Amino acid sequence: MLILLNTYPLLESQNLVFRSKVTAMAGSVKVIESALSGLEDLTPENVSQALTVVEETGVSRILVTDTAGRVLYDSRETGSAVGLYAFYTEIFQALRGQNAYYCSYDGDAFLSRGASPVVYHNQTVGAIYAYEYDTEQAELFKSLQSNIARISGVVAVFVIVLSLLLSRMLTGRISELLQAIRHVREGAYSHRAEVKGSDEIAQITAEFNSLTDRLQTTENARRRFVSDASHELKTPLAGIRLLTDSILQTENMDAETIHEFVGDIGQEAERLSRITEDLLRLTRLDSGALEQGAAVAVAPVLERVQRMLRMVAKEKGVALSYQADDRAVVIATEDDIHQILYNIMENGIKYSANGGFVRTDVTVEGQAVVIRVEDNGVGIPDEDLSHVFERFYRVDKARSRAVGGTGLGLSIVRDTVLRREGTIEARHREEGPGTVFIVRLPLAEGGGEA
Ligand code: ADP
Repeated sequence: MLILLNTYPLLESQNLVFRSKVTAMAGSVKVIESALSGLEDLTPENVSQALTVVEETGVSRILVTDTAGRVLYDSRETGSAVGLYAFYTEIFQALRGQNAYYCSYDGDAFLSRGASPVVYHNQTVGAIYAYEYDTEQAELFKSLQSNIARISGVVAVFVIVLSLLLSRMLTGRISELLQAIRHVREGAYSHRAEVKGSDEIAQITAEFNSLTDRLQTTENARRRFVSDASHELKTPLAGIRLLTDSILQTENMDAETIHEFVGDIGQEAERLSRITEDLLRLTRLDSGALEQGAAVAVAPVLERVQRMLRMVAKEKGVALSYQADDRAVVIATEDDIHQILYNIMENGIKYSANGGFVRTDVTVEGQAVVIRVEDNGVGIPDEDLSHVFERFYRVDKARSRAVGGTGLGLSIVRDTVLRREGTIEARHREEGPGTVFIVRLPLAEGGGEA
């Protein structure tokens, strides 16, 4: 823009000056031409004579030549060229009958020159040559030029300073964000970038902060999980250690006690393997490698789970019953459905007293398969209801351990249900003490028909 400002208007005004100069010069030459118009033959005398009536023309110098280019009249008195030959292109052009006017600018002055023929009865009898050297307008033109250059300089400085300030502001905020990203990358998950303004950078910063929030939550959950898992593994290991130490350190321990201790060691080892199995299952669910599901009918799986749990229930004196709609078909693997049913129903038995019941109903409601498992056991207090699906969460730690729980069963159930796009909830039983677990899974296409 500045280059354009420094060229276009100047060129335009220069052309304007050129045009006005040429017009003015042609006008002056015309005056002389008309003064000489009556002369048939041009001589130094009659030309001087004729031009005495012409007043100031405003032109620096005027020459009148004959047809050979010899100067007959020169307006300049000192250094007059009268009698000499003037070989100017413009004079030759004029002698050939043409008007020739030119103007140029040399940096100090406007130089204009031009020539016209002197005609007598259609016959060229000579030429008038005019020449002007104008420094006054050149001065004006130069000051215009330098004014524009000065204004451009000021504008350029302003623009540069403004762009520097703006870019520094922008890069400053980006580097702040970058710094925050680096901090978080190094593991400082509590670090937050400061958000100023409401532009795109502020939006990115806000997004980054909420991403970091999630990262921190996930990281905290991971740490808690690792510490909980280590703790859970440590307890049976400590038990095993204690029992083996007792056997080794007690002299002459009787065979019956040794047998009892080894039995306890076996139980602890079994708990360890249950925990690691559950942990592995959860890790598999976490890893995102979802096994391709197929249409699975829930009723036959329920029947199998019922058979497996029958003995345990009988031992505890808990009555098992079930009812399943044959149309209940979901997209999952048989193992998924088995895990869901087994864990919830086993809990029902585990947390029920002698004489209790666990009832399972599988129905089709609209586009969903609903699995309801109801028991009249110890129930879950209000404040724990929303937490029972968390990893290692137990309402009553001692009781859970005593019944062989790992605290992971319901987490596995919840993760499995969510991965199959279902929902799960735990409620109090309405008719009395106990718990109801309700799982909803999308009905498979083609399911719902008998
Ligand atoms: P656990 O292996 O300890 O049973 P779960 O994840 O299966 O772990 O269950 C978490 C906790 O929820 C249990 O420790 C228990 O306190 C409570 N819970 C689960 N199911 C029931 C139920 N049917 N009745 C009462 N409490 C239950």
